[in-house]
Amino acid sequence: MTEMDKRINLTGLSQAELVEFIEQTGEPAYRGRQIFAALHHRRLQNFAAMTDLPKALRERLQETATAATLTTESRYLSADGTRRFLMKTHDNLPVETVFIPEEHRDTICFSSQSGCPLQCTFCLTAQLGLLRSLTPGEIVEQVIIALNDAYGVGEKPPRGTNLVGMGAGEPFLNFDSLIKAVRIIADPQGLFIVPHRMTVSTAGVVPRIRELAAIPDRPNLAISLAAPTNEMRDELMPINKKWPLEELLGACREFERTLKAGERFTFEYVMLDGVNDSDEQARQLANLLNRHDLHARVNLIPHNPADPLPYQPSPATRVEMFKSILESKGVRTFVRRPRGRDIFAACGQLAAVTQSAGLRALRSA
Ligand code: SAH
Repeated sequence: MTEMDKRINLTGLSQAELVEFIEQTGEPAYRGRQIFAALHHRRLQNFAAMTDLPKALRERLQETATAATLTTESRYLSADGTRRFLMKTHDNLPVETVFIPEEHRDTICFSSQSGCPLQCTFCLTAQLGLLRSLTPGEIVEQVIIALNDAYGVGEKPPRGTNLVGMGAGEPFLNFDSLIKAVRIIADPQGLFIVPHRMTVSTAGVVPRIRELAAIPDRPNLAISLAAPTNEMRDELMPINKKWPLEELLGACREFERTLKAGERFTFEYVMLDGVNDSDEQARQLANLLNRHDLHARVNLIPHNPADPLPYQPSPATRVEMFKSILESKGVRTFVRRPRGRDIFAACGQLAAVTQSAGLRALRSA
């Protein structure tokens, strides 16, 4: 074990846990609250910077705990302003995060695992396999690093921040850490990004969809569909063999019944040229959703190509036709604009690619 392994990562503790940790060291509870605010509100990544703490306490913390565990290896800037961060865990595994500025909000796309165990044929991350699940602290840190990079340490973002769990990994195979991170991130004395501003995407881990349905302070949910029939979905997303469409959409129906005002529920459908984008498949998709009495919106995502993947994005006219067929059958449909394709920051392109030609690394930290 390295030195780092033995020290406790304080960014992964809730405020209550941090207070308890501090009290156990004989310090008063308010020191715990102070440290929580320093980590998550002031977004400080080392104890030395917490100059409002007594020097002796800072030194003691340095020995027993850490305020940051991820290191930024490289950073890429897209022509559209999207930033991609390639980071490493303390045990040297890749973690990727994407910061997407928009006119009225910023979106941070975080990873829930290093690599991914699912074998979706259209996604580059699948080729890494699962390296390991990330800890709550490693999930929270991605948000801190992205905000500090965009605006400066602790600076208040000028726009609202949305979070999406659509980076590397399957969030619902790391459910407990994910939910814990969501709660830490939502703390009003910390980052204060509320669950309504977060969306978690799953390839369809049915038991966790049911579990999320019972959680009150939950993030929004997105389901990656990619195919309108079991036959096609088995091929594109092998997880479908475990939880086929009827079971998945049954759980979605139950989830949809529990939606409260302000919560969002969507389906994601990656558009692969000549594979899943025909008129017939659009009708099948609409019928499937209508048959299960689902009202959630469908987001069409043109495939983001990457060299080893055997697909091309559907042409814009095909996407529009697909959309109009869905809409003619009462399915609300939205076409997602790809961001950061030129730096391999778009959906399905995260696989620790650094050697690709033309990537402009900004700075190694
Ligand atoms: N494992 C989760 C979250 C990561 S994928 C899930 O499957 O939902 C996030 C989204 O990116 C999914 O909707 C997925 O369908 C989409 N995606 C994956 N590869 C893609 C690619 N090459 N082009 C466009 N979208 C892709």
